[in-house]
Amino acid sequence: MAAQGVTKRIEDYSRWYTDVVKMADLADYAAVRGCMIIKPYGYELWENIKSGLDKRFKATGHRNAYFPLLIPMSFIEKEAKHVEGFAPELAIVTHAGGKELDEPLAIRPTSETVIGHAYARWIHSYRDLPVLINQWANVVRWEMRPRLFLRTSEFLWQEGHTAHATEEEAEEETIRMLDIYADFAVKDAAIPVIKGEKSGQEKFAGASRSFTIEAMMGNTWALQSGTSHYLGQNFARAFDIKFLDEENKLKYCYTTSWGVSTRMVGGIVMAHGDDKGLRLPPRLAPIQVVIVPIWRTVDQQGVVMKAIDDIRGALVDAGVRVHVDKREGITPGFKFNDWEMRGVPMRMEIGPRDVEHGTAILARRDMQGKDAKQSVSQDGIAQRVLELLTDIQNHMLAQATEFRDAHLHRANSYDELKEIVTDGWALIPHCGASECEEKIKEETKSSSRCYPIAENKDWDPREKTCPICGKPAVGLAYFARSY
Ligand SMILES: [Zn+2]
Repeated sequence: MAAQGVTKRIEDYSRWYTDVVKMADLADYAAVRGCMIIKPYGYELWENIKSGLDKRFKATGHRNAYFPLLIPMSFIEKEAKHVEGFAPELAIVTHAGGKELDEPLAIRPTSETVIGHAYARWIHSYRDLPVLINQWANVVRWEMRPRLFLRTSEFLWQEGHTAHATEEEAEEETIRMLDIYADFAVKDAAIPVIKGEKSGQEKFAGASRSFTIEAMMGNTWALQSGTSHYLGQNFARAFDIKFLDEENKLKYCYTTSWGVSTRMVGGIVMAHGDDKGLRLPPRLAPIQVVIVPIWRTVDQQGVVMKAIDDIRGALVDAGVRVHVDKREGITPGFKFNDWEMRGVPMRMEIGPRDVEHGTAILARRDMQGKDAKQSVSQDGIAQRVLELLTDIQNHMLAQATEFRDAHLHRANSYDELKEIVTDGWALIPHCGASECEEKIKEETKSSSRCYPIAENKDWDPREKTCPICGKPAVGLAYFARSY
């Protein structure tokens, strides 16, 4: 329970973030550095993220399965780029059952290898394709500089792994899942993400092409919030995933993988939070409405609680996630602050006078001051609450979009880029060279976020040059500070 407020964002954004995560009771540190305990309120938020994604996966023909946590080291080593990318982050089991293992086992950092090994045994003919499988699991990637939700050595995620007969189908799948991630981020998380392709330097270890949704946080830094990879035949060749086509010819499959993790929780905190704490979009909030009873005498308590019981019942029937704060010995004012800090989208206050008039006070978390409060009739209150929750959801997306758009700029020179990335994202024609990206990173601390799909659609790179190094440009890329 939090009596004092969180650190102001302008004073120390990083401390503000940690304060919010801890005081809103989302997570706690664990015994092993870099690991995290996800507390019930944080886990309920993750469960709502899961269900929003899971229903979209299922609606597009994917099925869930589960693959082992332990992966033989020889699997990881089969795809050269993959092992090179993941080796520094691997946690490896060398002993089990009281003796040294013949072959060390990696704790999965991602499952392309172990799933590829299974697909090679399951796929024989074109009739077996496509294979569209997702798994909800935990992974381990050792973190040197951990941050709750954003970078933890163990995290929860989903990883989709699909196999297809043709390049076109696999590429379509890659973009389909990118679109699903963007749809979820915009509609459920109220975060206006930018869809784009990762540069060669930033793409997934072992992928042919990587796509991303990039979100802007409250300090204008970028957060990579979901990725979808076209793996070409790289893993199919490494794991021998082959099929007989309709002409009875043996061919390698084309595969994809895509993932969203508990990082998304950190993204929601930073995209929407303010100096009072968390602000949760109604569609994902574990508690959408908190009811605070107000009374002085025991008689009043009885009358107020009776009215609240009825309203609570009506809200539950309407499918609203509602909580009644019955704590005694705590002032209503303290409760207001406490639930504001936890980001509950709407607060309902009911006192003896409200009962008398058949009304209730509704207060919105997405607005400030007088505008945030309104008195409503108890008749048809569930309908009114549902309308307001939709309004809050839309308003939060509009706020986040307005903030983002105010911090996206075109840069025409390296000097402009340097200036812009101190408080926003810079869009520049870029050459795509790793050395050039490295130079920018070293000198400005900003990195290539993506080549945004929308901005590159009607953009002709011919005769355009990279303002950093003067080489021909390959496309428009966003550069920004990032997590
Ligand atoms: Zn360049």
